[in-house]
Amino acid sequence: MSLSLYNTLTRKKEEFQPVHAPQVGVYLCGPTVYSEAHLGNARGPVVFDVLTRYLRHLGYQVRYVRNITDVGHLESDADTGEDKMEKAARAARIEPMQVAQHFANRYRQHMLALGCLPPDIEPQASGHITEQIGMIAEIIANGFAYEVNGSVYFDVPKYDEAHRYGRLSNRGIEDQLGGTRDTLAGQDEKRSPLDFALWKKAAPEHIMRWPSPWSEGFPGWHLECSAMSRKYLGTLSDIHGGGLDLMFPHHECEIAQCQASNTGTDESRVWMHNNMITVNGTKMSKSLGNFVLLGDMFKGPAGPLVQGYSPMVVRFFLMQAHYRSPVDVSDDALQAARKGYRKLMNGLRLLDKLAPTSEGADLPGDADLRKLTADLYTGLDDDLNTARSIASLFNLLRKFNTLATTPAALADVSAAALGEAVAAYRTLVADILGLQDEPRANAEQLLALTLSFYSEAKAEKAYDKVDVIRAALKGQGIVIKDTKAGVEWAYSEE
Ligand SMILES: [Zn+2]
Repeated sequence: MSLSLYNTLTRKKEEFQPVHAPQVGVYLCGPTVYSEAHLGNARGPVVFDVLTRYLRHLGYQVRYVRNITDVGHLESDADTGEDKMEKAARAARIEPMQVAQHFANRYRQHMLALGCLPPDIEPQASGHITEQIGMIAEIIANGFAYEVNGSVYFDVPKYDEAHRYGRLSNRGIEDQLGGTRDTLAGQDEKRSPLDFALWKKAAPEHIMRWPSPWSEGFPGWHLECSAMSRKYLGTLSDIHGGGLDLMFPHHECEIAQCQASNTGTDESRVWMHNNMITVNGTKMSKSLGNFVLLGDMFKGPAGPLVQGYSPMVVRFFLMQAHYRSPVDVSDDALQAARKGYRKLMNGLRLLDKLAPTSEGADLPGDADLRKLTADLYTGLDDDLNTARSIASLFNLLRKFNTLATTPAALADVSAAALGEAVAAYRTLVADILGLQDEPRANAEQLLALTLSFYSEAKAEKAYDKVDVIRAALKGQGIVIKDTKAGVEWAYSEE
């Protein structure tokens, strides 16, 4: 089976075909770095991290671009209000670039903790003003933008006549005109309320400003992604991703800018959107105030959560659902994720000990084992369904447990089939889903010592001590197992 992905632009699942195989260009709209990232901000990066890891596993040469928005993102999508960066800088009495650097650093730390590999290119909007000015000039020359008082606006109705605006979000401009109109300052410069800013003339108090042919000012938010995607991924990238909330207006405007400039394409062949994180069914967002900051969540308690959850548990939690479904956050859901994550990690530990006992090839148990192994990628191939692939991992793990505890079953599988299954499990868990064992400081030595005390107490039949040690370790999430080979431990799956 081959990889198919749901394309928002065509509203169907399509077999993935790179524009220039084996190269694949992936662009993910990154954070606006004016505050700490919350859980909702982490879903896209985790989803697209799994996607790029899987594409690499399939043999593609992936260039993964995830930008940093450090300019041009106004508080309202209607091109008015204060720049988010400047507002945060003013509040903290520091340079806007200091705000950007601080939160970009924090963001990178959190993403690394969550197991997201760093992007190949992480362009910043403020470092690509020249490219953005160039693109505006093209759009004006092509007749799809106009200048008023030093600001430049994209002419949506004119564009719509030639290209139909709203193809991505599947809405016509009549619908949009019927919506609530924004009457905030600056709107009177626009010929149509649908028009959006490509360049804004800076007010005297505005700190972040650059010279341009039109005025000292700054680019509109939507422009940076079009300009940077073209610069690093060419006129047509393979996959452009982001949260569902970016589909309109941000991504719709990106497509319009590319079509109206000399790029002349939809910017990307496949447009993918991950769904939102919800709290009690309501979207988690800064503006609603129901967010859980990642830094707080790793320590806990945070917001509606009574305890902390490690980054790997959070990553597993985000992958437990298909990316196009909403995910509701709660202690119950995260505790279930922790259990699932630990189960997979225990699986890795089990594999270290699972050695074939039969010499032959094509043994009776091979077919079943190979079927379970082949099923591991069925989910990922079907529009990156991580939930399905995780379920397949648990099915295979159940088989491994049987093999580990039933000598007759182990004797029934060949070294080749077992080797393939073990390798596939490891690859999917560690390399593609990106789940790693979380470090325990000196934990191995401490555990070995405690287990030696346990063995001594048992030999002396000091059962009160035995119980104390068992309970103490249980409190740390560890269970002791008395096996024929001696005393062993495992993570508690409760
Ligand atoms: Zn973007």
